[in-house]
Amino acid sequence: MTFETVLAQARAEGRTLLNEVEAKELLREAGVPATAATLAKTRSEAQSQATTMGYPVVLKVVSPDIAHKSDVGGVKLNLADSDAVGTAFDEIMASSKAAEPNARIAGVSVQEMAKQGTEVIVGMTTDPQFGPVMMFGLGGIMVEVLKDVSFRLIPLEAKDADQMMAEIKGRPILDGVRGQPPADLAALRSTILKVSEFVQKHPEVRELDLNPVFAYPDGALAVDARIVISEA
Ligand code: ADP
Ligand code: MG
Repeated sequence: MTFETVLAQARAEGRTLLNEVEAKELLREAGVPATAATLAKTRSEAQSQATTMGYPVVLKVVSPDIAHKSDVGGVKLNLADSDAVGTAFDEIMASSKAAEPNARIAGVSVQEMAKQGTEVIVGMTTDPQFGPVMMFGLGGIMVEVLKDVSFRLIPLEAKDADQMMAEIKGRPILDGVRGQPPADLAALRSTILKVSEFVQKHPEVRELDLNPVFAYPDGALAVDARIVISEA
């Protein structure tokens, strides 16, 4: 799947939001670590994809009209077998349709269940004045409530990525608190830089969010991805 193919398809369908499966595939090709994900249109497709992928898996609603999947009951984690996948598929469809009756639903994404890590956010927004800027912060309440994030203009160099990670107030969490091992800062730096390169290469990308990226003592992995492209 090339960027141009995905772009053309989204525009043909009148979408400015790339779905999670598309976003993750493009990012993986660009060297950004992200969970593998496939699109299943039916219950039995979801089951056979999960069996091929190996359990446990995660199922998530895929819809260009649903931005926050958990809010509509559209995320089911840690599904252990084919029966659990079937039930999760039915529940996701029912709760998503109940919450957003007019939403176009393409199906569900089937993805590997990642082991828990420290949640961070890597993103890009287009500032009306400055143009594309990268954003970095800690996930969850740290970004939602405390707005503890740092920004840098694209393009970025390694030292910019390091400064972004140094500037947040929650930085001690990355260094390891209360016996937690430190996060792999080199892997986070590489993730920030690869995303920066990706958006630089594709000016059609208006917004990009990896929320969250799991930071591990060894490595990093994006488990959610969202890309917004400009109108045709
Ligand atoms: P939302 O659209 O609500 O942001 P996410 O895809 O971020 O949905 O999923 C919600 C939460 O579920 C994430 O913050 C993360 O903690 C967890 N999660 C999502 N995908 C995975 C995965 N593949 N493996 C493990 N945990 C996941
Ligand atoms: Mg998310």
